Amino acid sequence: MDFDRARQILVGSFYPGIEDQLVLDAISRVPRELFVPVELQMFAYDDRPLSIGYGQTISQPYIVALMTQALELKGREKLLEVGTGSGYQSAILAELAASVYSIERIPELVEQARNLLEGLGYRNITLRVAGDDLGWKENAPYDTIIVTAAAPDVPQTLIEQLAVGGRLVIPVGSRSEQELLRIRKGKSGNKVDKLGGCRFVPLIGRDAWQD
Ligand code: SAH
Repeated sequence: MDFDRARQILVGSFYPGIEDQLVLDAISRVPRELFVPVELQMFAYDDRPLSIGYGQTISQPYIVALMTQALELKGREKLLEVGTGSGYQSAILAELAASVYSIERIPELVEQARNLLEGLGYRNITLRVAGDDLGWKENAPYDTIIVTAAAPDVPQTLIEQLAVGGRLVIPVGSRSEQELLRIRKGKSGNKVDKLGGCRFVPLIGRDAWQD
């Protein structure tokens, strides 16, 4: 299978929803086939989520593009990702931001993502197994935070880890269906944009869902 060609066709299908050329270029550079199990590689450029084991999924490519575009990255940001999963979204973010901190609650996925991302030569991604508290307070504040698992509400603790002027992109709703939200943190209050419906695996833990 010609993965490079399949990737270009997929990226072509994102227009007009995704117009940020930097995002389109980043997706054109990252080999999604390496982030899915070998037996699913032939589906790597279908625009849908795929199973990555442990009951988790790699997000649908269009949703990855939409969330990344919503972060409005310019290249100098320090960024937090909650839910490393396969590491695919982390790679896209690392193409577009200065430094990416990413946390994941399943240690085996952290290990797999670390090996893969190091092998691909990414030097600006730091991975860690998630602790009991949501997020990664030690490195806060972040210019942007992206949560790639579904939350019941916007977690206040993540707003606290965001810099003033920063953006948080997060799916919020029930365990089975959510709306993608972008929260812009202002000096006096936040502004919320609704970006459309989506389906993510649940965010687990304090300030989220029970396992
Ligand atoms: N961005 C990923 C999508 C991963 S799916 C990709 O591109 O592949 C969401 C991930 O969030 C799952 O791997 C799940 O284990 C993880 N997760 C769920 N709750 C979490 C929490 N509280 N902290 C960190 N990761 C969490």
